[in-house]
Amino acid sequence: MTDFETLGLSKPLLRAIEEQGYTTPTPVQEQSIPPLLAGRDVLGVAQTGTGKTAAFALPVLQIMSRDPPKRNRKIRTLVLSPTRELAAQIDERFSAYSEHLDIRHKVIFGGVNQNPQVRALQNGLDVLVATPGRLLDLINQGHVDIGHVEFFVLDEADRMLDMGFINDIKKVLKLLPKKRQNLLFSATMPSSIANLAGSFLSNAVKVDITPKEVTVDRIEQKIMFLRKSDKRRLLVKIIKQERVARGIVFTRTKHGANRLVKQLDQSGISAAAIHGNKSQGARTKALAGFKNGNIPILVATDIASRGIDVEGVTHVFNYDLPNEPESYVHRIGRTARAGRTGIAYAFCDDSESGYLVGIQQLIGKEIPVDDSHEFHFIGAIPKPGQKAGKIKEPKGSKKKQPQRNNSHSGGGRSSGNRSSGGRNTSNQSRNSRPSGQSGSRNQRQRED
Ligand code: AMP
Repeated sequence: MTDFETLGLSKPLLRAIEEQGYTTPTPVQEQSIPPLLAGRDVLGVAQTGTGKTAAFALPVLQIMSRDPPKRNRKIRTLVLSPTRELAAQIDERFSAYSEHLDIRHKVIFGGVNQNPQVRALQNGLDVLVATPGRLLDLINQGHVDIGHVEFFVLDEADRMLDMGFINDIKKVLKLLPKKRQNLLFSATMPSSIANLAGSFLSNAVKVDITPKEVTVDRIEQKIMFLRKSDKRRLLVKIIKQERVARGIVFTRTKHGANRLVKQLDQSGISAAAIHGNKSQGARTKALAGFKNGNIPILVATDIASRGIDVEGVTHVFNYDLPNEPESYVHRIGRTARAGRTGIAYAFCDDSESGYLVGIQQLIGKEIPVDDSHEFHFIGAIPKPGQKAGKIKEPKGSKKKQPQRNNSHSGGGRSSGNRSSGGRNTSNQSRNSRPSGQSGSRNQRQRED
């Protein structure tokens, strides 16, 4: 088995890794660290939860620490991240891994006062982790100089494009020095990302950690078929029965998340919502309460949940099934982290069965059905031959959908046997064509 030492990491880093309790590199670390240390560009298809932050942070820190720090520190590493939460977590990882090195790092993002960020920039930094909007703001105000960057990391590139950051990324790329090492990580690799990667990576080593490898067996997955109107009651029941002390519930919309928090409250369950409409203060407070155990249930939408890395999450509920199959993998990856086990429940109503077909195609297996609850509804089980749910443009909209929505949704034939008490859902072939779903769902998904 490979260990960190054989990857060529230096003593101060090995010490920090040991203090983090890591013993074995994850696949993305094993495959990325040696080429990065050798000065290559890396294109990583990997998502949060695979250990990708260490995969890029460790070699970058090692190369930077070869030179003694200058009195006037210039930003040598720039990491771009789509969300504030993920940016903060990346910065926190840089803290941990650079514990025994003389490295200064800082995270900057919008929604908070810029003055402390500006002060840190004025004191000089080696590593800057940033969301694109605030970075460009501070560049325009003359507070950030990225003209000396040697390592450029674009994290969660697919999410960046989904969130409309492409022009901001292009602006940043123009301001970077030509000679630099580039790293791009993305959970999926639609052609839009491949094109972007082609525009600035050179002769990159491709590291591919596919979702199938990520849906680890440590996560027990269950699908429950029911009517939409019964979802809340089933959720309350499970949370109470299983005494869930740390669980994340995923809803499709921000409005749905707020409503559910109120309803849980009325049922005596303390919960907080985290989504894009919440102020940074409210998001930080909700996360802090969740981390310290005061709030057992976090209700989240997909974008806000990216990068939530809280230890000891025992339950994930797909209260609404995501219409992007990849989101299912991201969501359930919030549990069973760092070697622990976890359980992921998915609620599927009759309007969502096409999404289930798509999810099962992506993960390459059927999710076991749990029909041992009073709300079991066979009308929500995918019909034989049901196609995977596919995002279709709302009529009249010119906005181009990211291709990732379609890339895994090749529809399938179902050989599922509904007479078997709903135990089987469907076996999907990978060859048939996807069909469309209504555009209104797509709009709802994009709410966040
Ligand atoms: P990431 O994908 O970078 O967000 O990392 C996911 C989680 O895995 C974080 O909590 C890391 O601290 C943890 N982690 C990263 N690398 C390892 C490793 N080699 N062994 C155990 N845990 C790790």
